[in-house]
Amino acid sequence: MEHKKLQFFKRLLEDERDKLSGRIRFINENGLAMSMKESTGELSMYDNNSGDLGSELFERSKDFALREDAVLVIKAIDGALDKIKDGTYGKCDICGKAIPLERLEAVPYTAVCFDCRVLVEQAPNLSVRPVEEEVIDDIYRQGHRKDIESAGYSMEDTWEDLSRY
Ligand SMILES: [Zn+2]
Repeated sequence: MEHKKLQFFKRLLEDERDKLSGRIRFINENGLAMSMKESTGELSMYDNNSGDLGSELFERSKDFALREDAVLVIKAIDGALDKIKDGTYGKCDICGKAIPLERLEAVPYTAVCFDCRVLVEQAPNLSVRPVEEEVIDDIYRQGHRKDIESAGYSMEDTWEDLSRY
């Protein structure tokens, strides 16, 4: 990619990174910190079952989710900035082809082309599901129903994390 274009994306990535770290700071200082202060103390959160606690937890989990998303994007931005430095920016991590400029303009921190992203997103249906079912079958025969449910959930979560990129 030509130098001018690279500088353009570098600026874009750095601006986005600033915005996100600002958001994380804001959540840390106002969101999570405020909820902590307003709650009647950390320990009581665990033995108190009031409705207030429910919405409190909801607000906090929303903050956590927003912060989590921002942290993930910052990681991706740092990866993209590294690639600008070593001259591999704009190449798909999976197939090695150039990622179209329009896609980079829309998602400058993306590390994969659209085709590969679609493949990654479909992967759970293609490869993980059958394995999951096999595991479930086995565990059913052994009669540990609870274990499957938690195993299934963590697998889903992992895929969700992966597909966010
Ligand atoms: Zn690709």
